[in-house]
Order: sequence, then C-alpha cells, then structure tokens
Amino acid sequence: MITVEEALRLVLERPFHPTVRTASLSDALGYILAEDVAADRDFPPFDRVTMDGIALSYASWSGGQRTFPLAGLVAAGSPRVALTHPATALEVMTGAVLPSNTDTVVRYEDLEVRDGQATVRAADLIKGQSIHRRGSDARRGDILLRRGTIISPAEIALLASVGKVNVSVYAPPSAIVVSTGDELVALDAEPLEHQVRRSNAAAIQAAMMYTRWKADTVHLPDNEDVLHGAVSELLQNNDVLIFSGGVSKGKFDFIPLVLLKCGFGQVFHEVRQRPGKPMWFGTRPDGKFAFALPGNPVSTFMCYHQYVRSWFWSSLGVPVRKQLVPLASDFNFEPRLTHFLQVRLEDGKATPIPGGGSGDFVNLQAVDGFLELPAEKSAFRAGEAFPFLSFRQ
Ligand code: AMP
Ligand code: MG
Repeated sequence: MITVEEALRLVLERPFHPTVRTASLSDALGYILAEDVAADRDFPPFDRVTMDGIALSYASWSGGQRTFPLAGLVAAGSPRVALTHPATALEVMTGAVLPSNTDTVVRYEDLEVRDGQATVRAADLIKGQSIHRRGSDARRGDILLRRGTIISPAEIALLASVGKVNVSVYAPPSAIVVSTGDELVALDAEPLEHQVRRSNAAAIQAAMMYTRWKADTVHLPDNEDVLHGAVSELLQNNDVLIFSGGVSKGKFDFIPLVLLKCGFGQVFHEVRQRPGKPMWFGTRPDGKFAFALPGNPVSTFMCYHQYVRSWFWSSLGVPVRKQLVPLASDFNFEPRLTHFLQVRLEDGKATPIPGGGSGDFVNLQAVDGFLELPAEKSAFRAGEAFPFLSFRQ
C-alpha cells in the first residue's frame, strides 16, 4: 500500500491541460486566473489625501505659524490645484489630490476652524502626515496578480481597479460526479429504514463549485454490467469521473474492475491513510481521469480535498502547500496510517474534534479541516505543528 505522500505525488504528476476562456468580472469570482495582471497606473495614482481637513506647507507650521487663512476647498474628484501662498492653507477632503506646494494634511479633529481661518491645535505635526503617496502601494507595470490565483473578492477589487471587465480564467475540465450504492436514494425521497439519501454527490458537487468547477451528478446501481455500460457512456462527454462508493473489498464494490474494463489504467488502489484507505485513482491513454473515493462520507470529503481538489488546483498553477498548524491538545492515534484528524481552528491552533469515524459526517459541520498526522508516530503533543488541509473557503 502506498503512502499519502506518494499517492498525492502520483496524482499531481498527472495534471490535466487546461484551456482558457474569458469571464466577465461580475462572473469571475471563484475562477482561477489564467493571466498575469499588471497595474495600469500607480497605486494610488496621485498623492491622495487620507483625512478631511486642511493641506498646508510644513515649513510654515515649523516656522511657528499656527493660524492659516483658508484659500479654498478641494473635493475628491477635483483636478489638482496649487496653494498659491505658503502662509495659507486649503481645505481638502479624503480622496482629493494633494494640492501642489503643500506637503502635510491636518485633520479637522486637530483644528479649530472659524471665520475662514484654521488654527492648528495639535501639539505636533509630522511632515507628510495623512497623505497616501502616489505609487506607494504599487507602481505602474507591477504585477498585481499572478496567473494561478483563485479569484476571491480581494482579487475582484484589484481587477476592477485596473479596468479588467473581462478576465482570462481557466476552463475546468468536463466532469461528472457518480454516486453508487443500492442503499442510496434521491435527496427528495423519503428513505426507508435501510436507505439513506445520497449526500456525498451533493457535497462533492458543492466543493467543486467553490472554484467554479461545475459538474452534474448521476447515480448508478451496484451492478457490474449496468456500471460498465453507464460509465462507458459517461466517458463520451466527460474527461474527469469522480466516484463515491464501491471501491472497497465488499461483494458489490465493482468500481475498480469496471474502470479497468472501461480502459483505465490503475495508478493506485489503497492509500495508507484513515479515513479513505480504499481510494482508487487511474487514467486513460486518451487523457481521461477517474478518482474513485470511498463512500463513507468523511472519507469522500477528505479524499476529495486531499487528492481531487489538489489535482485540479495544481493543474492550474494554484499552490497546494498546506499551512502548518499546531495542535491545541495531545492526541493519540495508534494505527500505522496517516491520520487526517478533524480539527477546528481556534487562536491559530487546531483543536481535535475527532467525531465518530468515517461515517459520522454530522461532525464535519463542527470542524474546519483535517490535520495530517504522520503514520510513523502515534503520540502527538500539544504545540507540535502538522499540515492542515482546509475545506472552508
Ligand atoms: P461504500 O464505499 O460503497 O462501501 O460505502 C460506504 C458507506 O458509505 C456505506 O455506509 C454507504 O451507505 C455510505 N455511502 C456511500 N455513498 C454515499 C453517498 N453518496 N451518500 C451518503 N452515504 C454514502
Ligand atoms: Mg457501496
């Protein structure tokens, strides 16, 4: 059985080759950027006033002058004006262009304004205060966003500010989520005692949507011939098949066999991990991929994030490094398996919330991700840091 590191390496060594499409900015959230984006002008583009108040020449104040006749008012959105006499000041609003011949802004809170004059009440001024200097955040031509960046609201702000109303993003591969299991019923069905709703497919589909990988779901029975026929058909329209269930040692676990029959080569079956040990991964010579995840809901969930999402992101140049997070308390795990421990993040530490095993997905709503505890150890101490696999966005 291969290790977690090896399994991940084998997956990441087989990236898909993405195509690029254009998304409108209003629809770009969650996609992965397929171009570098440069600043089209300095950030900020002019010396920007950051407080409502007055702009003056520091030399006048440091020479002892405290009361300044107000020579005018500059709103945000007005073209640059100049202070014509250094013994005067201009009223300036946040967002305005700093007037020429001024170098310091004093906010209203530090002034007394009366009869067209402002008296500085602050004991001290710092030359250049309350000014956001042109180009101090980025210079024209600087790369603001790199290809391979997931577009979150912060990236939307930058794209918007450089006028990118259309953005190059990666088009995800065509994919289908296939649940199997004769005990599983539709989400809107009233299950009998021996039945459960097929929640895994919905969970995977939703996790994919976080980075705009759209997939339909389909349900197939635990029947080798039916599976063979249906999977062959699904391959006509899908480059990536993601299965949940049917990959273990049970009498009705036909997925690995069916995938071999459908022309897939097995890359691995079984990983030294808990949950998710029975996972299967394979590829076809024509560039199709099959991820077969064990059906226990926590296993499916973990394996999707650890392997499928990492593969998808890594293929698009998104780094898949895991942050190291220290354990908040001791935890023991005896089996010689990498344990993906369910944890909640609190104050930068990972609190174990182990739950009731790989079938207990009620627990998932209480946690933020999995802490990857290495197989070689069994006693994990508070304060020791381990890679954290987050599934919250
Ligand atoms: P399997 O991997 O097919 O042996 O399934 C393991 C366990 O996970 C069984 O108890 C299944 O009922 C459950 N399971 C499999 N697929 C799903 C699904 N789509 N939604 C919820 N539970 C599932
Ligand atoms: Mg099953």
